This record gives sequence, C-alpha cells and structure tokens, in this order.
Amino acid sequence: MQFQFSQIGASLSRRGGIVELMDDLGEALSGAGQGEMRMLGGGNPAAIPAVQAVWRSRLQEIMSDADYCDRVLVQYDGPAGNPAFREIVADCFRREFGWNVTARNITVTAGGQMAFFQLFNLLGGVSGNITRKVLLPIVPEYIGYSDQGVCPELYAGCLPEIELQGDHGFKYRVDFQRVEAVESLGAIALSRPTNPSGNVLTDGEVARLRELARRRNVPLLLDNAYGLPFPGAIFTAAKLPTWDEDLVMVFSLSKLGLPGARTAIVVAHEEIAARVAAMNAVIGLANNNMGQAIAGPLLKNREILRLSREVIQPFYRQRATLALEVVAQEFGDDFPYRVHAAEGAFFLWIWFPELPISSRELYERLKQRNVLLVPGEYFFYGLPNDLDWPHRQQCVRITFSQSEQTVVAGLRIIAEELRQLHDSV
Ligand code: PLP
Repeated sequence: MQFQFSQIGASLSRRGGIVELMDDLGEALSGAGQGEMRMLGGGNPAAIPAVQAVWRSRLQEIMSDADYCDRVLVQYDGPAGNPAFREIVADCFRREFGWNVTARNITVTAGGQMAFFQLFNLLGGVSGNITRKVLLPIVPEYIGYSDQGVCPELYAGCLPEIELQGDHGFKYRVDFQRVEAVESLGAIALSRPTNPSGNVLTDGEVARLRELARRRNVPLLLDNAYGLPFPGAIFTAAKLPTWDEDLVMVFSLSKLGLPGARTAIVVAHEEIAARVAAMNAVIGLANNNMGQAIAGPLLKNREILRLSREVIQPFYRQRATLALEVVAQEFGDDFPYRVHAAEGAFFLWIWFPELPISSRELYERLKQRNVLLVPGEYFFYGLPNDLDWPHRQQCVRITFSQSEQTVVAGLRIIAEELRQLHDSV
C-alpha cells in the first residue's frame, strides 16, 4: 500500500537525529549489539549500585504492601498526576528552596521529553497572524527538542560566543546581542546543564535571560534533566533559581537511574500547569504512576536529594575527570582538539577544528568499529538554512556514563581513527 501522511504526521515521524540516537542506544544496550558496542552515544544514566539498590528496595516495599501495590497498579491517576505526590513535590520545593508553590503548580508528565513537547507546542507556534518562536539562547542545544515542533520553524536558535580556554579547552557564552534581536517570542528555553556541551549557564546568565523573558511577557523554560536538585550532575557553584510565575521548571526522574519510569515534574504558573495536565489527558489519558510511587516517599524524606548530593554528583564528577584525562592522554598535546568546559551532565563535547570530514561521517566510520558517539550537527537547529559555520560539523558528543572500561576503550578507538584520518589527508 502507498500510505499518504499529513504534513504534521510526516514531520513527527521522520527519522531525525533523536530517532537514530535512541535506535542506536536500544540496539547497543538491549538489542543485537549488546556487549559488543562501546556505547558512548545516548544519555542513558549509569547503573550506580548504591542508587539502584535504593530503587530495588523501594519496589520491594511497594510489593509487600498488597493494598497499596494494587492501588498503584489498578488506578488511573488524574491527568496532573497523583495528588499525594504533587503535595510532596510542592512541600519539598517550599521547604528546601523557599519556593512559593502549591500542588496546583505541579503537573506530572510522561518524562521530560514529553513535557517539552507539550510546553513547546502550548507556548510556541501559530498564534493569530504570527508564529511565536521558542528562543534557544545557545545552540547547540538538546537534540531531542529539534523535531518536536508541530509548527514548522518553531525554534529561533542563537549561536554562542566561543571563549577559547588554554590549549585544548573552550566554553560557549550567551551572545546577548543575538538573543535580544529575536522577535515574536512564545518562550525561551534551555537545558541546564546543557546537553550536549556540559555547559552550565551561570546564575547571572540565567537571571539576565529571565529578565528578558519578563520584558517580553513569555516564560523561561529550564530543563533540569541533569541539574539541580536531582540528579544534581552540576560541577560548578550554580544554584537553583527561586521559582516565580515567569519560570517553568522541568525535573525528570530519568537521570536518577529511572528512565523506564517515564516520569517528569513540571513546576509552572497554575494556568500552564493545568493546560499541561489537560494535554496529558488528551495525549495519553494519565501518567505512569509507578515512578511517582517509587519516588514519592524518597522525596518526602529527602533521600533523593541526599543521594544526588552524596552519591550521584560525585560519581559523574569523577567520571568526567576520568574522561578528560583519557582524552588528554589519547590525543596528546599536538593533536588539534578542544573539549568544552565539563561543568555538568554526562557528556564531553569535543571540537575538532581541523576535522577533514563531517562529524556525521566520523560517526559512520566509528560505528563500523563498534564505537557509538553522537555527531554534533544534530544539535545545531533553529538556524538559518544557509548559515555557513564549519563549527557545526566539527563537534561530537561522548557519554561517560557507561563503564570506565567502555569509556577508555571507546575514546582510544576514537583517537586512533582521528589520527589515521589526519595522517591520510
Ligand atoms: N532533556 C534533556 C536535556 C535530556 O538530555 C533528556 C534525555 O536525555 C530529556 C530532557 C528527556 O528525558 P526524559 O524524557 O527521560 O525525562
């Protein structure tokens, strides 16, 4: 049969970067390539033994309480999420961070990916005779957003300033002149830490973006998938901003080691929270309640915050240090590479300013050698089609969340392949 697809259907089902990345990840971690591939690709969290033990023990607790277990399994939650869980979340943010929130500001979604699909299409897109843009203050930005717009050309991405640091480092800074020049806004959005670069926008940069958002009467959406207060994979002194109605904060349970729970939390103005909840009902009826059942008591007694501070953050910080050491050792001082300041998340973002092929071709070559990474070009979107900026073909994202052995072996092969490439031109 020859199927005909709608424009929106075709756009949402096209094989974009995130589809390829998740296919690769599934294949490497649980499919035919299991055990063979060195998975330096997707953003899967590490299985940290002390953390996984907490989730297992909580599951046992749920199972040993027959009534509670049955209720979790047999009942749909309302579309905003479980009322008791939403109370716990609001109470935690009120007491620990002084936020002025109630359960009405909290909506649960089926993961952060889904939350952003809902938020972007709620706030951005065609409105009367204009298209409201989602402004991304620094591109490269999370690959998972790039195909989420129901409306074409949803994003207005802004190229950053590049600050060179030492012989082999660099850091992206917000170019506020570019950011201020974008018109017709529906929202401003960013991930903090930023996936892919590991950049953590400073408190000052966030405050400036927040001030711009207020002036334009749109919310600032902050994606805290890797950030504060959980899983807390931030290696700088950055703080959690104080919430107010101009801010939409999204937190996910995934990077705590629970991606299968498909659970995220949106903290927003009551109207936005209610609209996201209504979208939950339309798109998926209700949320997965198991994630909330696992996490609820551990948020209530703050164990999740303690684990994030004392176990998860030090784990990823140590992994980042190791990955940086291996990169320095494998590439040596004379090779042309620069690594973005590793300030958070699970990634190194490496720039090869003299790369003789595109990062996409490099990805293909490395896949042949059983090493997966993510080519950088996917993270540059919302930009003019004719933009000529070689930097976007010269970067790759490497995950350091898998085993040390995988990280070391994968980086060694990447360095070897790149040396061969450079020697052959
Ligand atoms: N935001 C960022 C920056 C991410 O990296 C991810 C996943 O990798 C997500 C959101 C979505 O995660 P989830 O839907 O599992 O919460």
